[in-house]
Amino acid sequence: MKKLEAGARKLGLHLTSRQLEQFEIYYQELASWNKRINLTAITSYEEVQLKHFLDSLSVTLALRQPQITTELRLIDIGTGAGMPGLPLKILHPGIKLVLLDSIAKKAAFLHHLKDRLELDDVEIVVGRAEEIGQAVQYREGFELVVSRAVAHLATLVELTLPFCTIGGSFIALKKGNIEEEVTAASRAISLLGGKLREVKKVSLEEFTDQRQLVIIDKVSPTPKLYPRRPGIPTKRPLG
Ligand code: SAM
Repeated sequence: MKKLEAGARKLGLHLTSRQLEQFEIYYQELASWNKRINLTAITSYEEVQLKHFLDSLSVTLALRQPQITTELRLIDIGTGAGMPGLPLKILHPGIKLVLLDSIAKKAAFLHHLKDRLELDDVEIVVGRAEEIGQAVQYREGFELVVSRAVAHLATLVELTLPFCTIGGSFIALKKGNIEEEVTAASRAISLLGGKLREVKKVSLEEFTDQRQLVIIDKVSPTPKLYPRRPGIPTKRPLG
């Protein structure tokens, strides 16, 4: 995990030997399960360290310091094989994490991994964000919502902002030129109770592509109408 350790240092993070050991276990389990179920197209030891683990940890660039407490509730929407949520949990073991994905096979991997990594306070939920976002126990229940590689921003905010508490934030990890995508999502962001704070560049030489964090603060309640039925946010994005 040398590449990860060095990259994390550039983010101002010092990973302990226990954390590096957990990332090593994560890599081994990912590689092993990926032979049976489709979890990731990124499989080399070096690439997983950078494109999965370091990329996930880049979320810390968007966090305000007092935001990370043991009381912090974090949800990762469309988590797949656990990213970016699980690397953030390894970094901050005290936080309360919910991992949400619609595919049960991926959840089976996450349950196994949670045990192998000996993590507490990790809940794995199988379901569509459109439905779980309407459930009282999850709606507006998280100070921090994160998501990577799930949908275009106008669709994504409908899947994520309903989970966010007022005063909390949603952070989307995005690649490439996203100026138009952000502009196209502006009406959706405000309809859902959000306010764009910043698009923050992740400037690390480890990444040759353009990576950035879209940071949206939740400033007012999401109207009960949202999220709409499964599939509708993708078919008919707000905006
Ligand atoms: N976030 C992970 C990552 O960056 O490695 C996985 C990205 S993968 C391309 C997209 C994931 O989002 C898939 O696992 C898919 O099942 C999940 N997903 C897509 N739409 C969803 C929805 N409406 N509700 C819950 N999960 C969803």
